Amino acid sequence: MKRIVVIGGGVAGLGAAYRIARARAAGHDVEVLVVERAQRLGGKLATDLVPDPDGGRYVVDGGSDAFVSTKPAVRRVATMLGIEDEIVPACDENKRTLIVKGRRLVELPDGIMMFAPTKLLPLATTPLYSWPGKLRMALDLVIPRKERWAPGESAKDHDETLEDFVVRRMGREALDRVAEPLVGGVHASDPSVMSLAATFPEFLEMEQKHGSLIRGFLEQRKAREAMKARQPARPGQKPWSFFNTFVHGMQTLPDAMGDAVGTKNITLGRAVTGLERRSGSWRVTLDDGEEIPADGVVLAVEAWAAVPLAASVDERIRELMEQIPCSSSATVPMAFAAKDCPFDLRWHGILVPLVEKRPLLAVTLSSSKWPDRAPSDRILLRGFIGGPRNQHLVDASDADLIETARREIVGMLGMPDGARPVFARVYRWIGGMPQYTLGHLDRVEEIETLTAAIPGFAMAGSAFRGVGIPNCIESGERAADKVLSDLGIAHTEDRSGAGVRRSG
Ligand SMILES: Cc1cc2nc3c(=O)[nH]c(=O)nc-3n(C[C@H](O)[C@H](O)[C@H](O)COP(=O)(O)OP(=O)(O)OC[C@H]3O[C@@H](n4cnc5c(N)ncnc54)[C@H](O)[C@@H]3O)c2cc1C
Repeated sequence: MKRIVVIGGGVAGLGAAYRIARARAAGHDVEVLVVERAQRLGGKLATDLVPDPDGGRYVVDGGSDAFVSTKPAVRRVATMLGIEDEIVPACDENKRTLIVKGRRLVELPDGIMMFAPTKLLPLATTPLYSWPGKLRMALDLVIPRKERWAPGESAKDHDETLEDFVVRRMGREALDRVAEPLVGGVHASDPSVMSLAATFPEFLEMEQKHGSLIRGFLEQRKAREAMKARQPARPGQKPWSFFNTFVHGMQTLPDAMGDAVGTKNITLGRAVTGLERRSGSWRVTLDDGEEIPADGVVLAVEAWAAVPLAASVDERIRELMEQIPCSSSATVPMAFAAKDCPFDLRWHGILVPLVEKRPLLAVTLSSSKWPDRAPSDRILLRGFIGGPRNQHLVDASDADLIETARREIVGMLGMPDGARPVFARVYRWIGGMPQYTLGHLDRVEEIETLTAAIPGFAMAGSAFRGVGIPNCIESGERAADKVLSDLGIAHTEDRSGAGVRRSG
């Protein structure tokens, strides 16, 4: 029996472990052991069901609160696990984004896609940008491409930072007011160093194809509208939304993956401290000194956590992992009595541009974004603090973080000054978000080439090719396939959904 140890029980590690469990269920002579440092599975997915003192409960996601519909991995895995029915779309009837501008909240104008306007009237009438700012954005229609790519070249050959690109095409206001908080915000990244080729290569490709982002996004919008018109929702069908979650929160997914892998194959609350290859096999050392022999290893931990473990595997991999910086953040979910919330509840989020120099980066109105997140007379919000330029804020005490988030939220939304949350908690994500800086794809390619040459070893996770949950699951699956194949196990699956289901 071959044994593969998966280090890290986030969605990447679980994506790998679940794939190996399916290979075993298909009759291959292989077993998996997941070792996770924390006391629970899920990594950056963490849901708590919090009771309200007056009855009812809150579904509180402290980390990821959504997965996107456009990448199939989560739905595919959920179908195999038998939890597809627990997927719920966001309440799109409330879907509005507000942006802080001075002391006001300005709605993101209709027709803005990522950061490019595709509707004239909403752009003309919005107070979000100045008139010179609006005219500068419109210049995108006439500014020529930076350069024409030679045949065979891709975004990677013409990488640029988000800041350079947006300012070049649409001016600084487009960056400061929307691109930085919205596009940079997805990666909790600093736009001045964020690699577009590694995060949004489609922007660079769009410039090549259309010579203008406004024209490119306009075409995308029209295609999307035509598709919706061709495929109206059938009666009884759940409405489609770009964002989705699970009825009982995102933790449903890692829990179900863990159940399918089997509790006896998972070790919680123990960290791997050493990793060594000895004459063709592996030895994994845990923090209590136990040594686990293995035939293969999938390393699926944060970039900074991989550094010390990679050191004994390959010095160059260690060096490259060290060059992937990670930013820290904290989320502060809090609930208020509905009587303290006299504002319009039809929105999902508030973005706070860095130029506003406020401690909060964003606010989610969880009880309007998702159904049944809070008792009916309560409003559940979530503040987001930190990111690459404000990491020091995360070091404050829980009480200070809660007070900062409360004060900012109360002020922004015009709530009574003394409004106090009925509950609040802090989730810290230290080094939680890898930063894909310029040159990231070259580093990842080199790591992949090096690991390809190490038998029985693969790496997975958000540090490499996408921070989104679906990307991380797929990276885990690829890593499992690589190690299985190194061990001479040819496991192939159809994509029909047959799989190992969670027990119970
Ligand atoms: C606040 C926040 C909000 C986010 N929101 C979204 C969202 O809404 N949608 C979305 O798609 N993405 C979101 N993301 C990104 C996404 O959640 C993550 O990129 C993804 O979950 C990472 O999965 P992973 O398995 O690669 O890593 P992780 O989830 O970081 O898992 C790595 C695991 O390895 C463990 N570990 C580390 N070192 C060791 C060791 N030595 N031994 C044993 N175990 C170890 C850690 O404890 C951890 O559990 C968000 C991220 C954050 C931080």
